[in-house]
Amino acid sequence: MTISQEELDAQSLATLRQYFGYEDFRPGQGALIRAILGGRDVLGVMPTGSGKSLCYQIPSLLLHGLTIVISPLISLMKDQVDGANEIGIPAAFINGSQSIDEQEDVFAAANAGRVRLLYVAPERLETQRFVNFATHADIALVAVDEAHCVSQWGQDFRSSYLGIGDFIDALPDRPTLAAFTATATERVRRDIIQMLGLRDPQVVVTGFDRTNLYFDILKLGTRDKANWIARYVAEHADESGIIYCATRKQTEELADTINALVPQLRAVSGAASPSSSPIAVAYHAGLPPAQRERAQRDFVTDAVPLVVATNAFGMGIDKSNVRYVIHHNMPESIEAYYQEAGRAGRDGEPSRCTLLWNESDIVTRRRLLDNGGANERLTEDEQEQVRRWKRHLLDAMVGYCRTTECLHRYMTRYFGEDGEMPAGAHCVGGCVNCDSTFSTTDVSRIARTISMCVHDLGQSYGSGKIVAVLRGSQAKDVLDRGLDHVPTFGRLADVSQSTVRDVLNQMVSDGFLTITEGRLPIVMFGARAAETIDPAFHYEMKSITRPKPVRPARQSNPALEPTTFGGGHGGTDEALFERLRGLRLDIAREIGKPPYIVFSDRSLRDMATRRPHTDDEFLEVSGVGASKLSKYGERFMQAIADFEE
Ligand code: ADP
Ligand code: MG
Ligand code: ZN
Repeated sequence: MTISQEELDAQSLATLRQYFGYEDFRPGQGALIRAILGGRDVLGVMPTGSGKSLCYQIPSLLLHGLTIVISPLISLMKDQVDGANEIGIPAAFINGSQSIDEQEDVFAAANAGRVRLLYVAPERLETQRFVNFATHADIALVAVDEAHCVSQWGQDFRSSYLGIGDFIDALPDRPTLAAFTATATERVRRDIIQMLGLRDPQVVVTGFDRTNLYFDILKLGTRDKANWIARYVAEHADESGIIYCATRKQTEELADTINALVPQLRAVSGAASPSSSPIAVAYHAGLPPAQRERAQRDFVTDAVPLVVATNAFGMGIDKSNVRYVIHHNMPESIEAYYQEAGRAGRDGEPSRCTLLWNESDIVTRRRLLDNGGANERLTEDEQEQVRRWKRHLLDAMVGYCRTTECLHRYMTRYFGEDGEMPAGAHCVGGCVNCDSTFSTTDVSRIARTISMCVHDLGQSYGSGKIVAVLRGSQAKDVLDRGLDHVPTFGRLADVSQSTVRDVLNQMVSDGFLTITEGRLPIVMFGARAAETIDPAFHYEMKSITRPKPVRPARQSNPALEPTTFGGGHGGTDEALFERLRGLRLDIAREIGKPPYIVFSDRSLRDMATRRPHTDDEFLEVSGVGASKLSKYGERFMQAIADFEE
C-alpha cells in the first residue's frame, strides 16, 4: 500500500502542529521532509537557526523504522534528546560516556520500537557493538547533522566523519540518507555529497540572510576592545551572549576583566546591585573536560549569561535565546564568522552580532596561515593548495571588515545568492553600514610614498621611524642616523601622523608590506609591493561615521512583522514576559534541564502577547504542542491569570 503525496504532506503538517506547536513549515523544511518520506536522499543547506532538526525529527515519527542521527558533539546530545522527549518524540543517545549495560538498554529499546530517534557520535559507528546493533536493526533513515565536518575544505573537519559512508555501505538494507549543514560553499557541498555517498540527493538551499540579526563591525585598537566589551555587557546584563576570542589565554583574561569591570559599571549606572555570581565564564579546549562541561552547562541553563570562548565552543549549541555574539578578533573566514555569529537569535528574536577588528588582527591571521601547522595526511602540493584556498577565504573576511556595502548583502552574495536583495532595498535585519555614512579617501599618493620610504630605508626600520622620516621629524635619532638625507624625508609633512600610520597598517594587512616578528619589528616589502610603483596604482581608505548612540538590538528591526516585534514589547507585556521567564527558570530547575527546552524566548513573548486562558488558546502559542500543553499549560495560564489580577 502506498500513501499519496497529499496524505504524506498532510501527515507532516499535522505532526508539526501536534508535536512542535508550529503553524507552518519554514522555507525548505516541507520539501526536505517530503523527499525523505519518499525515500530519497537529501542535502539540506540551511542557516543556523532555520530549523534543520525538525527535518529529520518529523520523519522519525512518521517512518516505520528507526532514525539515526549522527551528531558531532557528545556533550550536547543529552540536550538534544531532552528537547525531543519534551515534545513527545521518543529519543535516546549512544555515546562513549555510557556503560555497556546502558548502551544495551538503549539498543533494546530501539529494537522494541520504544526509541524512534537515536543520536550517535560518529566515533561509535566504528565500534563492533554499534555495527552489530545496526546490522540487525530496522533503520529507515540516517541523518547526518553538521555534515560539513566531512570536508577538508571546511573549518570543522573531523576524521571520524569519513567513516560514515562505509558504515552506510555495510548495512544490509540501505536506509535513506539525509545530510544537513549551515555551510554553503559549493566546494563543501560537493564534498558532502561525495564523501557521504548521497545518491541523487534532493538538494535544498534556503536563504542565507538571517533577517533577525543586526550586523555591526567596529574597528578598535587592541587595548580598547576589553573596555568596549565590558561596557556592552554591562548595558545588556539581562541578556545572554557569547564572546569569541582568538586564543585560549584571551578568553580567560577577558572573562576576568568582565567579571571585575561589569559590576562596577553597573553600580555606577545605578543598576540593580551586582550579585556575587560571575557574569562571564571562559571556555576553550585546553580546560579540563569537567570544567568545560560545567561552563557549557552554566551557560545553557542561564546560570551565567555570558561565555567567553575560542571557536571550540558552540557547534551544536541549540540555546535559542543568545541575544548577542561579539567577536573580539577577526575570524579566519566568512564561513566561520557566519556560523559563530549565527548562534545569536536562533529563536528568531532580534539579536546583535558585533565584529571587533583592527589591522593587527589581519596580520596575525595571515601569519598563522603562512606558518600554520602542516597536515600530514596531505602532500606538499595539496598543502599549498589548501593554504592558497585559506588565503582566499581570509581575503573575503578582510573584505567584510572593509566594505561599505550592506553587510547582509555582502554575506548573502558570498554564499552565492546574488540578486537576493535588490539594489537600493534596505536590509531587513539592519547593519552598521546601512546606518552609517562613509567617506572614502584616495590615499594612493600616501601609500606610494610609504612604499618608496621603505625602499629608501633599505627595509631595515620599524614603522615608527618610517612615519617620523616621512613627516620630516627633527628627532635626534633621526638626524643622528642621517635619515634626513633620504629622498622621501618630509614628503608627507602635510599628512597627519595617525593617517600615515593607518595607511601603513592597511598596507600591511593588504600584503603590500610585511612586518617581521620579534622584539624590534621591521617593515619590509610584501608580496604586492611592486603594484605601488605601477602608475595606475590606486588605493583607498574608508572612514565611517557610526550611528549614535548604539541602538539596542530589540529596537533595530522595524521592518519585521509587527505582531512579533512591534509595539507590544514595552510596558505590561514586558513585565509579563519577565514573570513567565521566572516561571520557566523555576520549572527548568525542577526538571534539571535548560530553560530553553521548556519554552523558547519566542514562545514566551508570544504567550505574553496572547495571554491564553484556555487549553485551545494555549495551543495557539507558537511552540506549544500537545506535550507542552499537558506538561506546563496549567502553570503558565495560572501565572498569566495571577499577573492580570
Ligand atoms: P538549526 O539546526 O537549523 O540551527 P534548529 O533545528 O535548532 O535549527 O531550530 C531552531 C529553532 O527554530 C528551534 O527553536 C526550532 O524549534 C524553531 N523552529 C524550527 N522549525 C520551525 C517552524 N516551522 N516554525 C517555527 N519555529 C521553528
Ligand atoms: Mg542544528
Ligand atoms: Zn544593511
